[in-house]
Amino acid sequence: MWIRDFITKDTPFENEKKTVIVVLRILYIISFIAFCIDTIVAGPGAIMMYPLKIFALFSANVVLFFTTYRLRTRISNLLFMFYTFVWTIFMIPVYGWSAGMQNYYIIILMLCFFASYSKAYRKFINAGLVLLFRIVTIGVFGGIKSLVVTEVVQDKLIQITNISAVFLEIIFISYMFSRKDTEAENKLMKYNDKLLREANTDKLTGLFNRRRADEYLKAVENSNDGEAISIAIGDIDFFKKVNDTYGHDAGDEVLKYIGSVMKEICREGTFLARWGGEEFLIVFPDCNGDNAYIAIERLREEIENSVITVGDERISVTMTFGLAEYSFNRNSESTVKEADEKLYLGKQSGRNRVVY
Ligand code: GH3
Ligand code: MG
Ligand code: MG
Repeated sequence: MWIRDFITKDTPFENEKKTVIVVLRILYIISFIAFCIDTIVAGPGAIMMYPLKIFALFSANVVLFFTTYRLRTRISNLLFMFYTFVWTIFMIPVYGWSAGMQNYYIIILMLCFFASYSKAYRKFINAGLVLLFRIVTIGVFGGIKSLVVTEVVQDKLIQITNISAVFLEIIFISYMFSRKDTEAENKLMKYNDKLLREANTDKLTGLFNRRRADEYLKAVENSNDGEAISIAIGDIDFFKKVNDTYGHDAGDEVLKYIGSVMKEICREGTFLARWGGEEFLIVFPDCNGDNAYIAIERLREEIENSVITVGDERISVTMTFGLAEYSFNRNSESTVKEADEKLYLGKQSGRNRVVY
């Protein structure tokens, strides 16, 4: 665990790109390990012939690794690129062209794109410069033979070490930077979902709100291909009296309770919305009026028989419903209007009933 903390420890500056710093530290470590293996495989010959170069590069790797804890991201990134460049051109003549040190240029190229936050055109210019350096390197060192690596097997082992290190670094850079994008995208998507849910939901009851209900009715109208749909509107009876007697907060509790009973009683797929203050819209897709009537009658009875406890008060309410069947030769608006008219009839004829 301490290794993880050690590598992911933040920079002392705020608003720095932490991923870049973590990536650079890992790259230093991978390069260091590759460097050690290369040196061991090459044998004492390399150290004897180039002691200063090798010592300087080893030290630079370690020192630069630790500067990532002190320096700004941009400078750390530039230093890593510079270190990799110097290491590459110093070591090509030591191990020979076939050792593949020149492949580390790919890491510099990737950092130009992923770790730098400059404008796109600058990234392309930097990439062009890397290519130029790479071509110059071919001009200067292309095909050069190593003086210290004499055995074929040594040469192959160094090649394998270097190409493995380069692959690992490429994989690591790609993973770290694509992960960040994916995470950000997921977060954004979740946030969008949340916003959408909030925009569609009535806060108090948790049912859909009027906005969503209008949208839903339009969608029903557009997608209906003849199946029966029933639409009901329910209104709490004498709700004003509930507010007047027990207070507005108690009234809110009653509304919440009605919402929860609706969710409980109505089967999945039934669309439930708070249509207005104490009015609710219920849409039964794929259900004719007779069956919807049975469901609403059950709901009405359940509400009639419930006692809602708010503080010390025990409140009972009833509801009146108007129900209409939607058919393909009419629009949802006129169906809702019919349900509303039936609700009105129910209110006039004594409340606490379902009119169909
Ligand atoms: P009726 O049986 O004819 O429907 O009588 P009613 O008293 O229910 O009808 P009216 O339309 O006169 O009153 C509705 C009341 O609902 C008035 C309003 O204060 C209350 N109301 C509307 N929205 C809310 C709310 O979000 N919370 C609370 N507590 N009351 C609300
Ligand atoms: Mg009303
Ligand atoms: Mg009412």
